[in-house]
Amino acid sequence: MKILVLNCGSSSVKYELYDTELGRALAEGIVDRIGEERGVADHGQALELVSERLVAPGTGALGGLDEVDAVGHRVVHGGARFTSAVKVTPEVLTAIEECVPLAPLHNPPALLGIKEAMRLLPSVPQVAVFDTAFHAGLPPRAHVYALPYHLYRDHGVRRYGFHGISYQYVSQRLDVLLGGRLAELKTVIAHLGNGASVTAVYGGRAVDTSMGLTPLEGLVMGSRGGDLDPGVLLFLQQKLGYPVEEVDRLLNEESGLLGVSGRSNDMRDILAGVEAGDERCRLALELYCYRLRKYVGAYAAVLGGLDVLAFTAGVGENSPQVRELVCADFAFLSLRLDPQANAAARGCEAEIQAEDSAVRVLVVPTDEERLIAEETAALVLG
Ligand code: AMP
Repeated sequence: MKILVLNCGSSSVKYELYDTELGRALAEGIVDRIGEERGVADHGQALELVSERLVAPGTGALGGLDEVDAVGHRVVHGGARFTSAVKVTPEVLTAIEECVPLAPLHNPPALLGIKEAMRLLPSVPQVAVFDTAFHAGLPPRAHVYALPYHLYRDHGVRRYGFHGISYQYVSQRLDVLLGGRLAELKTVIAHLGNGASVTAVYGGRAVDTSMGLTPLEGLVMGSRGGDLDPGVLLFLQQKLGYPVEEVDRLLNEESGLLGVSGRSNDMRDILAGVEAGDERCRLALELYCYRLRKYVGAYAAVLGGLDVLAFTAGVGENSPQVRELVCADFAFLSLRLDPQANAAARGCEAEIQAEDSAVRVLVVPTDEERLIAEETAALVLG
């Protein structure tokens, strides 16, 4: 089957045409700067441009749009309602709309993408794949905030978790790499991209995860600081007079590696800064790795042990230095890295623990588009 995978953000549409028989992408690309002066006007125009590219004589991957068997959409927030991927129906659209207050930046462009794809390809099935679904089974002790209960019951204020599409893909690969034994292994997966989170997995499902109601909770990220005393927000507003929009910007765009280093949200720049002796870059790197170490330790306690630690996404796949700093001093869990294997693992699947390590440590490059395509094909084939 040929599946068009769409990932619609507020100002960009990423696409990949995936062939499930060949097991690879036939085309991929991005239309960005949507709504900007020199860009395309809206998501409708962006999707028209995507389809023009796909069928362009000579360069396009398709003879005609009728070769597309289904469209798979990434939807960031599925709330408590969606525990797996679903075929899009009018009722599903309404339910995704109801999740907008939970993800005001992410769900509206995904909805636009679905509606425009339905307009362009009216007879093609559309499937929504949710970034929250992998975490749907989090037990109440892991997903309820210790706030007045009515906020949970009446307003859905709870922890949802994100990066679920990536966790599902990495879990499937881990199961293959570990000889079909993932379900019985106490596993922690760290997704370290520009956004970063970490998840404890047992029995093939998430049992705890570091992101919460929004992707702000948990690890230190590129421009988000993760866990924070909520009193800091009160201090900013009540004592320093920050308006709410500025608090929002500070939390989402000005914190994390960027906030601490004052340099960059990109781990490559932070590592280069450390090399050059920049103290604030060193502090940012230390905070980043220290926070993740604390989570790995906490999740070992949650799981009652640790059998597998896996790294994925931009930093996790490509930075031996971060992996080394995170794993250092975990000898009390009998976790030891093989320095050579760790140094050699860049952007490829690899096992990097030392021979005498009781914990297996793996690098598994993520492929969210592939997972979306496979989930979409499975639903359409029924
Ligand atoms: P992602 O969101 O998965 O695309 O990850 C993006 C992040 O990965 C970037 O912000 C970089 O900080 C990081 N990254 C990519 N390549 C490297 C590398 N070779 N070393 C360290 N970090 C990297």
